[in-house]
Amino acid sequence: MALQLDLSHLRCLVTGGTRGIGLAITEELLKAGARVYIASRKQAAVDEALASLSRFGDRCAGSTCNVGEPDDRQKLIDSVTDRFGGLDVLVNNAAANPVFGKVEATEPWAFQKIMQVNLEAPFELAKLALPYLKQSEAASVLNISSIGGLRPEPKLGIYSVSKAALNSLTKVLAKEWGRYGIRVNAICPGLIQTDFSQALWQNEQLIQQMQHHTPQGRIGQPAEIGRLAVSIVSSFGSYCTGHIFTADGGYTI
Ligand code: NAP
Repeated sequence: MALQLDLSHLRCLVTGGTRGIGLAITEELLKAGARVYIASRKQAAVDEALASLSRFGDRCAGSTCNVGEPDDRQKLIDSVTDRFGGLDVLVNNAAANPVFGKVEATEPWAFQKIMQVNLEAPFELAKLALPYLKQSEAASVLNISSIGGLRPEPKLGIYSVSKAALNSLTKVLAKEWGRYGIRVNAICPGLIQTDFSQALWQNEQLIQQMQHHTPQGRIGQPAEIGRLAVSIVSSFGSYCTGHIFTADGGYTI
């Protein structure tokens, strides 16, 4: 039997879909035939991303949303479901990391922002999406986490805590929502070449060390996470739920 990937039945929402990993996931979903709604905070970023995806026509749409804001989250779910008539796949990709350094230097505002964007937002968006996901024949939630959630990353203490909690949330939701036919999984990327991680991959000494400790000998590209995401939310991943997929070139082995 030939393996065929046709996602034309899927209506997807990708938060932070205007750049980096979120944009790559969006592009791979669109290439496989899905309809995708993207959202991020800045109108200019949404416009630029939609222009770069214009070859997919009206299968792609988007609007602004700060996932840390409750009103924005409600508006986003309303917009995507109005546009597509439902929702099958929620990709919680947007994240924040406003601080880099020792954990004891993390101030309360930074702790709150990290938890609000990286943990509370995926949870609340999943809850808002639930009535629509329950009606879907191919429902899933995919949380973009981090290897920091598996093994704390140096100088990324509270970010790592937020991603460990996101991994736990993934398993909790998978266990509770399996009965509704909803799968919930997470991807933990290693170092991927995006704006978010620029300070890391532009540091020559650090990148050499990372490459040395990475069995595949290189950092990752956003499209590699995009293709994995497509596999997980498609029928290729139909018996996977509560799973934390690591995509790090073997770095955490
Ligand atoms: P990125 O290139 O900085 O892109 C982040 C995207 O999220 C942008 O579209 C940004 O657009 C949007 N965004 C940021 N804050 C937002 C908010 N509060 N509400 C809505 N949208 C928001 O980041 P990335 O590297 O692709 O990271 C994507 C995900 O992968 C994150 O969850 C990150 O933790 C995870 N990850 C990345 C790496 C890596 O090495 N790159 C490694 C492990 C995990 P606006 O600025 O317009 O809001």
